[in-house]
Amino acid sequence: MLDQLKCLIEYQKIEDKRNQLMRSYEEGPRRIAELEKEFEYFEVQFLAKKEECDTAKETHRGIEAQLEDLRARMVRQKTRLGEVKTNKEYQAIQKEIEDTKKEVSKNEDGALELIEKLELLVREVAELDTDLAEKRAVLEKQRAVLEREGGQFQARLDRLENIRQKVRERVNPDLLKKTDFLFTKQAGIAVSSVENGVCNVCHMNIPPQKFIELQRDEDILQCPHCHRFLFWPGHEGYCISREDIDSI
Ligand SMILES: [Zn+2]
Repeated sequence: MLDQLKCLIEYQKIEDKRNQLMRSYEEGPRRIAELEKEFEYFEVQFLAKKEECDTAKETHRGIEAQLEDLRARMVRQKTRLGEVKTNKEYQAIQKEIEDTKKEVSKNEDGALELIEKLELLVREVAELDTDLAEKRAVLEKQRAVLEREGGQFQARLDRLENIRQKVRERVNPDLLKKTDFLFTKQAGIAVSSVENGVCNVCHMNIPPQKFIELQRDEDILQCPHCHRFLFWPGHEGYCISREDIDSI
């Protein structure tokens, strides 16, 4: 068992775990932004409906005020009717009263129609208001969960970083330099297992002689194609994690 190779396998596992944690860590704010966007969409619907309802209420108040004026006009017209002296005047005021009556009737119809619409709008606004309150509660709850998880992620990353540093200290400087270079250049993967003579990362065949050498476990070898460090999982020791990374 080559201790240095074992360290590299360990190092690779730590890097994998770190990348996985980083992805989850970045996922949190993205999820919150998504939920906020969803909430804003419903809030816009609610505000539009509320505005429609407020406008209808205002129109209704306008019609009611107009009706009040018309009724007051009719009272005045009836008073004048009692005071007229000629038949011609009497007929003229009668005509005015008829016109006022027609206008009252028209406005009453309009008010009635509007009241029906208003009742529907008030109900819709109330429903949307309830929906929005529920959505706000869900958003706040999820935000709290994600923020709490975000804090935990940081602690997990810190724990992992401790283990990472310890492993790095165990790798000899030349090998560490090569490994870090591979992490940067080879998409975060510097170490690969070989199974059935094939590199598990680049999926290319390892020359048979090299595969035999690898199984002999005497030297640290690199894939001739992707240059990653190779190990053969047939050696049990290379599959055991010394630190319990998986539980972080
Ligand atoms: Zn390879």
